[in-house]
Amino acid sequence: MPEVIVIGAGPVGLLLGAELRRHGIDVEILEQRASPGPGSRAVGVHAPTLAALEPSGLTEQLLVHALRVDRGEARSEGRRLGTVRFDRLSARFPFVATLPQADTERVLAAAAPAPDRGVRITGLHPMGHRVELESDEDVRSAPLVVLAGGARSRDLVYAHPAARTYPDRYLMTDVDLGAHRDSETAVVHLDGDGVLESFPLPGGRRRFVAWDPAEASADPEARRRRMGHALERRGERGPAEVTAFAVRRYVAPQMRNGRLFVVGDAAHEVSPIGGQGMNLGLLDAATLAPLLADWVHTGTAPEADLRSWERERIRSARRAADLAALNTRLGRPAGPSVDALRRRMLRAMLGPGAGRVFAHAYAMGFDAATS
Ligand SMILES: Cc1cc2nc3c(=O)[nH]c(=O)nc-3n(C[C@H](O)[C@H](O)[C@H](O)COP(=O)(O)OP(=O)(O)OC[C@H]3O[C@@H](n4cnc5c(N)ncnc54)[C@H](O)[C@@H]3O)c2cc1C
Repeated sequence: MPEVIVIGAGPVGLLLGAELRRHGIDVEILEQRASPGPGSRAVGVHAPTLAALEPSGLTEQLLVHALRVDRGEARSEGRRLGTVRFDRLSARFPFVATLPQADTERVLAAAAPAPDRGVRITGLHPMGHRVELESDEDVRSAPLVVLAGGARSRDLVYAHPAARTYPDRYLMTDVDLGAHRDSETAVVHLDGDGVLESFPLPGGRRRFVAWDPAEASADPEARRRRMGHALERRGERGPAEVTAFAVRRYVAPQMRNGRLFVVGDAAHEVSPIGGQGMNLGLLDAATLAPLLADWVHTGTAPEADLRSWERERIRSARRAADLAALNTRLGRPAGPSVDALRRRMLRAMLGPGAGRVFAHAYAMGFDAATS
């Protein structure tokens, strides 16, 4: 029987597996998918995450594949409203490392035990000194179990797993642009017809995310045209493949039930417009691993530390969710008067002094793991 079982080989489960192994723990990762999932999601790894992954050498490996983005700019109708300078933060890594989530997962997977694939957990039952796991095939157990199964696995542990859904919809595309005038700057275009976010990626690629009306056609060609229009309007070139996503908010009331823990999107889901969901989960895992290792090595639960871990991770998730909700609201279409007010507000918020607080917030400087 392994000492710890982790459910889910997404970024959070892989990091937890890697960190527990590094601490000498016999850990098994169970994953329902036969191979890593397709699609592109998170593109930014923030300073606190890079600092937390440094002792394991994972940061160094991530940075081999990443682009270092040291500033973000808010623009309206092509004119600069303000700049967020990550390079002026007093952090160990004064930049956002951008790379596709699949590349982050590859780096984490190389340090983690190979997942046992094709195993779908259907039930979790805490039973005194162990937790029993039911799958489609069998029943197994371990002294400690961590659910890192993402948003869809939430109903395995929570009585009320439904997330709040925002009315907003977005289109997303990654485009090969080669040389670009904003090659190392993230840009947020805040115009009357809704936000367009633009992030540099390694290898001359760029991620674009555009606000899209909820009632607009879901036809792939129609989506491609709408995205093409949003890009053209800001002087960018057209998209190849376009995906769409909605945004939801969920912050669990608790992340632990005895010997069963919940981390990552299974415990909290924040709007991708904040760019912090994966980072929150990675920090859950990086901070939980030494506590579980201590429990296994000493045979005694570090109760006080586990209580503060749970409290701080929930507090950090609430903060990230609030920031993401603010971003979502700021990115909605607005009539001329509201748009003008928004521009004034942003100029003030991104001005000298206040701009530093903004950079700190966007770089996850308010996460409990940074203190
Ligand atoms: C469009 C988009 C853009 C995003 N951009 C960003 C960004 O820029 N920055 C950022 O920080 N975050 C971003 N995110 C959020 C980020 O992608 C997620 O927070 C992250 O993937 C969560 O990781 P996870 O490991 O908790 O869950 P997941 O990535 O969902 O992985 C869970 C794994 O568990 C497996 N699993 C589930 N249920 C079971 C079961 N019952 N039994 C066995 N296995 C199971 C799944 O197959 C999956 O492999 C974005 C998300 C989206 C949708």
